[in-house]
Amino acid sequence: MSVVTRFPPSPTGLMHVGNARTALFNWLYARHHKGKFVVRIEDTDRKRHSEEAVQVIMDALEWLGLDYDGEVTSQFSRLDRHTEVAKEMVAKGQAYYCYCSPEDLKEMREKARADGCKTFYDRRWRNADSSKAPKDINPVIRIKAPMEGATTINDKVQGEVTVANDQLDDFIILRSDGTPTYMLSVVVDDHDMGVTHIIRGDDHLNNTFRQKIIFDAMGWDVPTFAHLPLLHGSDGAKFSKRHGAQSISEFKEMGYLPEALSNYLLRLGWSHGDEEVIPRDKAVEWFDLDPVGKAPAKFDFKKLENLNAHYINEADTEYLLKQAAPFFVKRLGLKPSGIGLERLIAGIDELKSRAKTLIQFVDDGAFYVKEIPFSYDEKAQKNIDEAKDVLSTLLECFESHKGAFDAEFVQSTCKEIADDMRDGKLGKVAMPLRAALTGTTVSPSIFHASEILGKEECCERLRAVL
Ligand code: GLU
Repeated sequence: MSVVTRFPPSPTGLMHVGNARTALFNWLYARHHKGKFVVRIEDTDRKRHSEEAVQVIMDALEWLGLDYDGEVTSQFSRLDRHTEVAKEMVAKGQAYYCYCSPEDLKEMREKARADGCKTFYDRRWRNADSSKAPKDINPVIRIKAPMEGATTINDKVQGEVTVANDQLDDFIILRSDGTPTYMLSVVVDDHDMGVTHIIRGDDHLNNTFRQKIIFDAMGWDVPTFAHLPLLHGSDGAKFSKRHGAQSISEFKEMGYLPEALSNYLLRLGWSHGDEEVIPRDKAVEWFDLDPVGKAPAKFDFKKLENLNAHYINEADTEYLLKQAAPFFVKRLGLKPSGIGLERLIAGIDELKSRAKTLIQFVDDGAFYVKEIPFSYDEKAQKNIDEAKDVLSTLLECFESHKGAFDAEFVQSTCKEIADDMRDGKLGKVAMPLRAALTGTTVSPSIFHASEILGKEECCERLRAVL
C-alpha cells in the first residue's frame, strides 16, 4: 500500500509554526515512504473565508520547501459529496433522521446534566418510525454510534487509546440546514483522497474516535493515526504569543532561513541519535514516526538561532544574497549592486560566520554597500568626536602609503599610532577607525574590512568625518 499523508489547514490568516511542524512531519513521512503528500484547504466557514488567507498557507508551504502532489483540494467544493455520503449512510441503516425540536434537545440536555451523563441525546429517533415525523421540523442526520463496547485507536504516537462507546453519542453528521458537519467532511475527504496516515496535533485525538465510527459505518479502511504532542513554551505552558513569534511569516521576517526553521521543527519531538543539524535529504532518509515522543516539545528560540547561524554560515553566496535581498531593501532601502556588491561578496565569509539571523547579516554588512555620506550611530559619533587627532593621522598615513593596502598594513599603522598617541591601546585607534568606516561600533575585523574597502574609499570615509 502506497502511503498518502495530508495537510488540511483551516485558512485562519496565518500559518502557525505548530501547523508547519505538522505539515513537515506529513511531508517527510510521505517522502520517506515514496508516497504522496496532499493538501486540502478546510474552507467551509464561508463567513470568514478569504483567498488571501489561503495564499498565506500556500506561501508558507513554498517557503518551507514542502511541495505537494496533485491539486489543492477545497473542502467547500465537496459539500455535495459529503451530503451524498450522509444520505447513503441513512440508506444503509448506519444513520438516521432525527426530528427533535430545540425544546426536546434542551429538555434532554437538562436531564443529562442532572443525571451527570457525559452524553445527552437519548437516541429517540434511532429506531423510530419516520412516518411519524413532524412536518414542521427540518431533520438532522445522526450516525448510529455503537452503544456497547469500546472504540480503540492504535495511535503511532499515543499508543493504544480506548474510549467506552457509552461516552460517544449519536452525533450529527448533517445539520438541519443540509450542511455536513466537520466530522463527516474530514472523513469523506480523507477517504476519497486515499489518505493512509493521519498525522496531526493531539488536540484532534478526541475527534478521532468519532471519525473512526464514520469510517467503520461506511466500511472504509481506517487510516493509521499519529497524534503529535503540542508545542509548549520554555516555561511549559502552551506555546503562545507571549513566548514570541508564532506564525511562519513572523519567523521569516525575523531573518530565519527556511532550512533552519524546518530543521528546528523537525527536532521538536523527533530525534535521530544526537544529530542536531539534519539537512533535508537526511531528514527524508531518516524520518519515521517511531521516534516521536509523547511529551510536549518545548520551543527554544536559542536553539533555533544556533541552527540559523549554522545554516547562514554554510549557505552558498548566491543563495544567501537572494535570501538577504529583501532585508537590504527593508533596512537600507537598496539592493546591493556594483562595487557595493563586490565588497559585500569579498567580506562575506566573515559576515556569514558572525550572523545569527539575516537581519544581523545585513546590518553587519551594510557598510560595504552604503555610500557616503551616511549616518553614524550615537556610539560611533562619540568615538569619532573623541579621536579626530587619531583619525587625521590615520588619513595622512593612508594617503602617503605607496605599497599594498592590505589588512596587515592597516593593522600595523593602527598599532604605531596607538603606541604614539594612545599609550599602546590598539582599540583606541581601531574603534574610531571602525566608527568612521562603518558608521557603527560593531563590525567584522576592521583591518580586513579596510582592505576590502580599498585605500581610496577608506580615505574618502575618513575625510567625511574630519
Ligand atoms: N483543519 C484542521 C485544523 O487546522 C485539521 C484537522 C485534521 O487534521 O484532521 O486544525
